[in-house]
Amino acid sequence: MIDRELQKQLQEILETEKLLVAPQTLSSFSRDASGICSPPSLLLQPQTTTQIARIVSLAHKHHFPLTIRGGDTAPSGGAMATRGGILLSLSKMSRVTEISSRNMMVVVQPGVITAQINAQLKPHGLFYPIDPASQDLCTIGGNVATRAHGLHGIKYGTIDNYLLGLEAVVPPGEIIRCGAKTIKCATGYRLTDLLAGSRGQIGIITEIILKLLPRPQAQASLMATFGGMGQACRVKEVLHKKGIRPSRMELMDHRSAHSGLVDLNLSLSSGQALLLVELDGEESMVQKDAQMTGKLLVEQGGEGVRLAQDERESDRWWQARGTLLSHLTEQEDAFLLLTTIIPGAKATRFFQKVAEASPRKGADLAIFGHLGEGRWHSVISARKHGTAAKRALPKLAEAIHKIAVSLGGRNRPLYAVGFAAGAFPPPPGDAGAEMLYRTLKASFDPRGILQPME
Ligand SMILES: Cc1cc2nc3c(=O)[nH]c(=O)nc-3n(C[C@H](O)[C@H](O)[C@H](O)COP(=O)(O)OP(=O)(O)OC[C@H]3O[C@@H](n4cnc5c(N)ncnc54)[C@H](O)[C@@H]3O)c2cc1C
Repeated sequence: MIDRELQKQLQEILETEKLLVAPQTLSSFSRDASGICSPPSLLLQPQTTTQIARIVSLAHKHHFPLTIRGGDTAPSGGAMATRGGILLSLSKMSRVTEISSRNMMVVVQPGVITAQINAQLKPHGLFYPIDPASQDLCTIGGNVATRAHGLHGIKYGTIDNYLLGLEAVVPPGEIIRCGAKTIKCATGYRLTDLLAGSRGQIGIITEIILKLLPRPQAQASLMATFGGMGQACRVKEVLHKKGIRPSRMELMDHRSAHSGLVDLNLSLSSGQALLLVELDGEESMVQKDAQMTGKLLVEQGGEGVRLAQDERESDRWWQARGTLLSHLTEQEDAFLLLTTIIPGAKATRFFQKVAEASPRKGADLAIFGHLGEGRWHSVISARKHGTAAKRALPKLAEAIHKIAVSLGGRNRPLYAVGFAAGAFPPPPGDAGAEMLYRTLKASFDPRGILQPME
């Protein structure tokens, strides 16, 4: 599909070392966490928006597929060149180009590793609060393209609250700019929101403007164990009633804490749950709130309540939480990851029902998530892999799905790792919304060169 002539034209756009064709190199870009294997025909590493616009123009003209790759941490296979063609890596566009304390905003290229943004903002006393657990590996472009969430959501909201504007390249090679470096920019459609979450299907995000906050003066973290997940569910409500707004609040069942937080070497009894709470803000207020939180955790049945000694210990706890999913799944060659949203008032019931449903022969379950938001991740894996286990896993996923729906909750599409591609078709959606999606995709990308609809 990409013949010598086309390759020559691409070569004219990029420097030689930014166009990679060696089979060994391409094969190292052919697999991701989902287990999908599909090598691209070419790997391009552009350095400028103009280069990307010229590449998109060629792809549009010659109908070849383009897949965009950030940090490749999304477990859905979106950054894989499933139709071959060109894999466009944004790793060479990785600069923070402007930090403005006066305008409280930062301008970044899409390939910046997310954690790097705060590292560069720290000396300026500024703060970007969106912190996906994968922040040491994923890119800000990938975060915008997937509308990634972080652990700070309970206090600071979602990425949508910080996205002021974007630059993107859309077929047939147009550079578009939407939003501005100001909070209010209310002219016309908000295209920024259309591109956010579009997973590289309608455009390539080449620059991002983010709103910033003043860096919180102080932080304090607390840890407590509870008799079970359900027991800890009232903590958020109790803290809020006292006017305490944690910045992070994460709850993990015994299996998640034991196998996921290996670096902390915790000893939890079977059935127990672990709660981590972080408070941030002005120093004296944080100290006062930490004392009150400790007291309230004990009142709610928390045991072994501990306050992190210093910032280093607190960082160690949260870093361990950041790598929980990787540790939990690193030994598994087949597992399912289900994300469920449950209204806060139904969370205790949800955990009760899941506990009743989960003893399934051959299937193990670990649940952890964001107590403040009511968003829970279930990792369903098998003790012994084989056909029987692969049958047991989807059954448990289906049981959890049904429980969630019966309690007014919702599930995000299931991520299946180590199963045949297409084994889990997405649940039927809203036909009208589906039609609108397809119409939008077709008007941005009439020749369907940017990755196909999932
Ligand atoms: C251990 C672990 C923890 C995680 N924790 C979280 C979490 O806490 N919260 C959360 O929301 N997610 C989490 N994820 C999922 C994943 O990290 C996020 O979806 C992340 O935003 C993906 O960023 P990326 O740079 O790796 O993108 P990629 O995986 O490279 O790409 C993701 C999608 O975005 C598209 N894309 C990437 N860059 C661009 C661009 N510049 N323009 C247009 N399209 C683009 C790709 O084509 C693909 O479809 C986690 C994943 C892992 C492995």
